[in-house]
Amino acid sequence: MKILVINAGSSSIKYQLLDMTSGNPLASGIVERIGEEMGSLTHKAFLGTPKEFKEAIECAFPTHKEGMHEVVRLLTDPEKGVIKDSSEIAGIGHRIVHGGELFSKPVEVDAEVLQGIRDVIPLAPLHNPGHVIGIEVATELFPGVRQVVVFDTAFHQTMEPKAFMYGIPYEYYEEFALRRYGAHGTSHKYVAREAAKVLGKPLEECNLVTVHLGNGASLSAVKKGKCSDTSMGLTPLGGIIMGTRCGDLDPAIVGFISDKKDMSAAEVVTMFTNESGLKGICGSNDLRDIHSRIEKGDERAELALDMATHRVRQFIGSYFFELGKVDAIVFTAGIGENDPEYRARTCSDLENFGIIMDSDKNWNWDRTPSAISADDSPVKVFVIATNEELEIANDTVAVLGL
Ligand code: ADP
Repeated sequence: MKILVINAGSSSIKYQLLDMTSGNPLASGIVERIGEEMGSLTHKAFLGTPKEFKEAIECAFPTHKEGMHEVVRLLTDPEKGVIKDSSEIAGIGHRIVHGGELFSKPVEVDAEVLQGIRDVIPLAPLHNPGHVIGIEVATELFPGVRQVVVFDTAFHQTMEPKAFMYGIPYEYYEEFALRRYGAHGTSHKYVAREAAKVLGKPLEECNLVTVHLGNGASLSAVKKGKCSDTSMGLTPLGGIIMGTRCGDLDPAIVGFISDKKDMSAAEVVTMFTNESGLKGICGSNDLRDIHSRIEKGDERAELALDMATHRVRQFIGSYFFELGKVDAIVFTAGIGENDPEYRARTCSDLENFGIIMDSDKNWNWDRTPSAISADDSPVKVFVIATNEELEIANDTVAVLGL
């Protein structure tokens, strides 16, 4: 059975076609700069090891429809394609950034669901409009193929009001649904389930701290398999210090900067989003670069890494209180999977809290879901490679009952 996973943005479409027998991708790629004078499509097809077919196309894609059309052409290419025609696709799963309070689990697309995603646009104005277009184009190009939407916020919908409400007048929640929603839910859910497998007990019996560290980054407290708190807020700007995003800070700073620099609130938020975080402190948002600068004695790079890991430790500490007892801390995503130094700094000197690292395992993690803590560590520390596409495809199969 084959499932197509689509992540449509305002000017891009990421896609992956998965073979659900193995869980492996058959093809993947990205269409970029849709609507611009010149766009691009990068496509990879996996035709059985070690045969891999790559194609990079530069041409204009006036709308998402032309982009998706080209993807279908490549997927069904008589020579280098991975399927004969689109009837081989059993279902389509869409990644949706924001489901607001309307969606707490994946659902099959119908007119009402599509309207729901539109209704949530004020909470994700940069993302949800692209998702709606992606669904509309898929409906047109794959008639008869059922579609499912999987929300990045859904996993966090189990939080209680004490965790998701902000300390501002209640009417803002009532009028605008202003509250903490969280992000990366699909990844947190995937690694939580994988962690339960490594622990050898049902997810419903596991207490975990999941640490998704990519360019965007967030932590979740997972209590008996359900999210009870998460670091990101109303938007993906809150929580820990990220690549270019500031994370939590004193809200009065918005007014202060706006006043001193004669910037609008929107301009300040743009600066918080694109020019802050690690990049704002030391000029780079890539950990590889930051480590090589630290080796050369760059103090700003050292400060940036220190600040970022300090903040992650603060969240882990608060989630220990929230959970009472923790089975495992789980690192994932670009930094979580590839940066042993970041993991070591985050988990150092915590033996009194039951966290005992195994330096050898940490520095030589073999990419399988496994522990980097000592065998006798009361709290396990795992590294588990995330796979959001597989999670979306699995949800699609489950919702459609395939
Ligand atoms: P996103 O999906 O949020 O764009 P990723 O999960 O792909 O981000 O993570 C990207 C980040 O991972 C990079 O910015 C970089 O900081 C970090 N990263 C990737 N590879 C390595 C590596 N080998 N060592 C350290 N950090 C890495």
